[in-house]
Parts: sequence; structure tokens; C-alpha cells
Amino acid sequence: MKIRNILATKGMNTISMHPEQTVKDAITLLTQYNIGAVVVLDVDEKLVGILSERDLIRAVASHADVMTRPVSSVMTSNVITGTPQDDLQSVLQTMTNGRFRHLPIVDRGSMIGIVSIGDLVKAQLDEYKGEIDTLRTQLIEGEA
Ligand code: AMP
Repeated sequence: MKIRNILATKGMNTISMHPEQTVKDAITLLTQYNIGAVVVLDVDEKLVGILSERDLIRAVASHADVMTRPVSSVMTSNVITGTPQDDLQSVLQTMTNGRFRHLPIVDRGSMIGIVSIGDLVKAQLDEYKGEIDTLRTQLIEGEA
């Protein structure tokens, strides 16, 4: 299965913010949309960072003034991205090896969505279930 199939099912809607917005704004978004990470885009809508719950915990541990800081000071700037053509298996491997749970998807320079490890595990389980159903049907038909 390709990442484009997963995005088609879950939708391309991505919650984003700008680097100069505050950590408090980020927490408000994460809470409001019940998500674990938000992507950070510059004025040209170019991806410049990602901020996850993990970054927020780190920031709380290091800065007393955390809530009023700009997200640019606590986000991860070196963002690893995927493409719609990537395989589910290879992306799962990349995220497991890199120990991160969110992957923005970029197509011809523009961000078109984000997948979480939860989306990928669900897609993988659905795929396995489909294969099991097919094999079961073939078995039953073979017995008849
Ligand atoms: P997560 O597991 O996604 O909550 O993130 C764990 C850490 O990896 C945090 O510091 C995130 O900012 C960072 N992170 C999450 N997704 C990515 C990504 N696609 N590329 C680079 N770093 C990421």
C-alpha cells in the first residue's frame, strides 16, 4: 500500500502554525484538535519545523517561561518527510528506526498532509485483515 492511499482515506487536512506563534498557541491547537503534533510553516507555507508533545515536555523541563516562547525556539527544525509514492512498509520502518510518530507528506515541494504512526498501524492491520479474508474465502471455495 502507498502513502497516497492512506491520505485518501484519512484526508489531507493538516493543522499548522507559524514560527512566531507561542507555545501556548501550540498547546491550544493540540488540545482543540486532539492531535500529538503540529507542523510549522513559514510565510511562504514552506515546512520549517514540527512540534510534538515530546518537544513540549522537553521545553517545560528546560524553560520557566515556556508558555510565551515562540514555537521556533522549541520545535524540531530538521524535519523528515515522506512522499505520496512511499510504501507503507518503508515508512513504518523509517519512523520506527527514527523513533518519531509523525511524518509530513510532501509532493513537488508542497506539504499535502501528515500521517501518524497510528494511521499507519491501522492501514497495516486493515491490509492484513483483507488478505486473511481473501485466503479464508479461497480455502472455503477450495473445500467446496
Ligand atoms: P513524536 O514521536 O512524533 O511525538 O516526536 C518525537 C520527536 O521527534 C520530537 O522531538 C519531534 O519533534 C520529532 N519528530 C516528529 N516527527 C518528526 C519528523 N517527521 N521529522 C523529524 N523529527 C520529527
